[in-house]
Amino acid sequence: MKVTGYGDECRRRWASPRWRVNVRLPFFLLLAGFCSAPMAAVAGRTVRGSLPAEPRQLPIAYFQQSPAPEGAPQAAPQHFTLTPEQRARAEAWARIGDITYVAGLLLAIALNLIFWLRGFGVGLRNLARRVSCRLIVKCLVIAPLFVGATALVNLPLDYYAGHLLERRFGLSTQTFASWFGDWGKTLALSIIAGAVLLWVFYGVIRRSPRRWWFYFWLATIPLALFVMFIEPWVVEPLFYKFMPLADSQPALVGRIETMLGNAGVDIPPPRILLMNASSKTTALNAYVSGVGASKRVVVWDTTLRALTPDETLLVLGHETGHYVLHHIAKEFALDEGVLLVIFYVGYRVFRAMVRRFGARTGLEGEGDLASLPLAILILTVLAFLASPALNGISRHYEHQADQYGLEVAYGVVPDPNAAAARAEQTLGVIDLAQPDPSRLKVFWLYTHPPVEDRIRFENDYHPWTGGRPMEFVRGSR
Ligand SMILES: [Zn+2]
Repeated sequence: MKVTGYGDECRRRWASPRWRVNVRLPFFLLLAGFCSAPMAAVAGRTVRGSLPAEPRQLPIAYFQQSPAPEGAPQAAPQHFTLTPEQRARAEAWARIGDITYVAGLLLAIALNLIFWLRGFGVGLRNLARRVSCRLIVKCLVIAPLFVGATALVNLPLDYYAGHLLERRFGLSTQTFASWFGDWGKTLALSIIAGAVLLWVFYGVIRRSPRRWWFYFWLATIPLALFVMFIEPWVVEPLFYKFMPLADSQPALVGRIETMLGNAGVDIPPPRILLMNASSKTTALNAYVSGVGASKRVVVWDTTLRALTPDETLLVLGHETGHYVLHHIAKEFALDEGVLLVIFYVGYRVFRAMVRRFGARTGLEGEGDLASLPLAILILTVLAFLASPALNGISRHYEHQADQYGLEVAYGVVPDPNAAAARAEQTLGVIDLAQPDPSRLKVFWLYTHPPVEDRIRFENDYHPWTGGRPMEFVRGSR
């Protein structure tokens, strides 16, 4: 599980199938294992990428005007500032993203409704029964067929939103073969996760028809922790290569260590990694993932190329904030709280629906595997309704990480406020951040505060000028 990429601010769960560096993978993996599109689509947090078909007009133009040599102080933007062309492009990207997001959501709802009402679930259950009477075997039969059918129906939209559009907007550098390979890997992971979840879900319902929502929730905790733990070692390397940042950037890592040392915290250099994002994207980002022994900070190579060292330190300051403030664990705990509510409400709705419509649609009860499309339909709607809570939690920690980044960089970077605002501006331009998202959209979908808000905060937060204490960093300065 990752906490938060630095630059991505809006999650489009259904819009893009490609593996996305994302914050709450295990959480959504749990929801998505048997949900609509392959899990990464659901987990997906947008970090948009890269260069492409209309070859990177925007990035190149930006690079030319932007990175200044170190030491030449650049003015910090007071606002998120775009040229008319940049603005038009970012707004077009946002508009089309909204459409594909809504289309994906409606498709997931319609598909599961049809699967349920037209007897696809009953057909799968009957097939599985002919194979075995053991639940685990039945789940191994149903998961690939159900997840595979869902993925195939979603494929055109995934291809359009996740590949074609990204290339058209100069965000993706992937070939179709590479994209399709990622799609296949994601599908395989979704089938594995789906089979496990299916088995646990129906096993629990059959044992405890009235309290399954609680026991299933309890079971998701170790499952999610396990996935969070292995994800950086098993899942991420399927999509990208990672190497210690110190191998290629020893000077930068030296400055990071100085920065963290001042704050009295320690992240071993092998835990600060460089990811070859440029193999697939032009987008900029960095993130924190893993738990315990697998916890690490990852920075994309694209970010290093587009930002000055000072700006990069601010991005890494933000990420180390997630790391040292234990945001993964805290966010996980809060997300699990939301999940408990989702499961309880889901239990009530599921039970009522099966009682009311079960006989007419061939369901033999809640524990009948044929009820899978109905269960996913309910889960999809509830996950959408819970988005504001989940994303509100995320935005809170993102804001905290921004503040931490400024505090930890103070005394190491000459003007942390200016460097942070410049980094934010560059990330916003290259990642096509929407300049003026509606408050409703931010409330519902944004995992990060909007760029404009972040730049304003990054300019305004400087307790050191007034001699006030810092909130998170109490170093020896
Ligand atoms: Zn973050």
